[in-house]
Amino acid sequence: MEYILNEVLIPLSYLLASILFIFGLKQLAHPQTARRGMNLAAAGMLVAIVGTLFHHDIISYDLIIIGLIVGSLIGAAMSIWMPMTAMPQRTALSHAFGALAASLVGVAEYWHALHSGQPIAAYKMTALGFEVLFGSLTVTGSLLAFAKLQELMRGTPVTYKGQNILNVSLFALAAFIFIYLVFDPGQTTLFFIMVGLSFLFGILLVLPIGAADMPVVMSLMNSYAGLAAAATGFAINNKVLIIAGTLDGFSGFILSILMCKAMNRSITNVLFGAFGSPVDDTAVVVQGEMKEIGAEDVAMQLAYARQVVFVPGYGLATAQAQHVVRELGEALEHRGVQVKYAIHPVAGRMPGHMNVLLAEANVPYSDLYELEQINPEMPATDVAVVIGANDVVNPDARDNPKSPIAGMPIIEVDKCHTVIVLKRGRGKGFSGLENPLFYKNNTRMLYGDAKASLTKLAQEVQHA
Ligand code: NAP
Repeated sequence: MEYILNEVLIPLSYLLASILFIFGLKQLAHPQTARRGMNLAAAGMLVAIVGTLFHHDIISYDLIIIGLIVGSLIGAAMSIWMPMTAMPQRTALSHAFGALAASLVGVAEYWHALHSGQPIAAYKMTALGFEVLFGSLTVTGSLLAFAKLQELMRGTPVTYKGQNILNVSLFALAAFIFIYLVFDPGQTTLFFIMVGLSFLFGILLVLPIGAADMPVVMSLMNSYAGLAAAATGFAINNKVLIIAGTLDGFSGFILSILMCKAMNRSITNVLFGAFGSPVDDTAVVVQGEMKEIGAEDVAMQLAYARQVVFVPGYGLATAQAQHVVRELGEALEHRGVQVKYAIHPVAGRMPGHMNVLLAEANVPYSDLYELEQINPEMPATDVAVVIGANDVVNPDARDNPKSPIAGMPIIEVDKCHTVIVLKRGRGKGFSGLENPLFYKNNTRMLYGDAKASLTKLAQEVQHA
């Protein structure tokens, strides 16, 4: 019976879990199938956990039960009480928890191997080294990303003289200790110094990254957490961890590259933590004044337009205005107006944030246009409605080489005939920069919470 359990049933459960992860990931690639993909992956995780609970190495279930209860309570509380707008912070916390688990397993496994009376094989020490290196730096890096996203600290990059030299030296020292340990694993003090250095490196890695570059941090931490899990799999010879960790690690890495492309940054800059400069507001020269407009006037312009482009941003998420923007869009379409949604890859606070919100409101996927698709249409667009977006429509990124976000591609709403900006007041975007768009001659400001403004617009359009 024990043979069947260990050699057949547990490996089968891992195989099934891996298949579910792979199909889940595939389905996550499209908004229409993403929900099913998520459920498949969650089912895979359940199968993997149940399989592991039968593992012959388990001698007592007491601590496992306590862990399950505590973990489930924390997970349920985060899902129930953290608002959708805090999803990026929640994701950062999940990365930190996952990486902490990998680091703890790494330290425990090292300790166990050290006292087993057998020498630690070089391959095992290599896996353990990767595990604690990636795991520990992801814990502190993700916690710092959480603090920045939660605005517990300044979200802009923190830079100081000699930062890169310090970072690279610290990383080199940790890497040197790691290599030394592969040849001489018994140096316990060095092992814990390496763990400490990795914790410190995580903080130093994320400190200089901030403002508009935060999406890259998020996807990078995702990738590191996955790689730490994969290394755990090698260290404890667990195949489902190797497969799931590698899928997570490399999909996170591919996402990092895509985010870099979206931000017009090179991945080498990101990997060496050398990008991100302090916000220099003096580089932003704004001329003119912000001109306010009423909902009735906006509704008239929308109702008689030929083409309207909605540009959602983080404010759409905070206002939870995704359903009402779809209602307004439908009202306009009934009047024969061509309605399109322009999606910037880093709009909101996490990759795909806008796609998720609009899919939740059943906005047809065919109405969503990526930056490269929509920008050529801007000069022929009558009205662009910017809904709680700021950085992603900041023309300084294109026009002002001194701007901290210079080179970041934007949705060029300023090229439209008229731009209507829906925001509550003079609040800045995540980068903390002034936005010259709001002062342009063809821009009008409709102040108020995005949901309230859109509701009013939808009503007015019905009567126009
Ligand atoms: P943004 O630049 O952060 O601007 C959001 C704007 O929404 C603010 O200016 C705010 O102005 C307005 N707003 C907030 N709540 C509102 C409400 N209830 N109703 C109406 N307006 C509201 O947003 P974005 O243009 O989407 O740009 C995203 C930024 O976040 C980029 O800098 C990006 O790099 C960064 N980021 C992105 C990710 C990602 O993965 N997507 C992750 C981390 C960081 P008021 O206060 O005046 O209303």
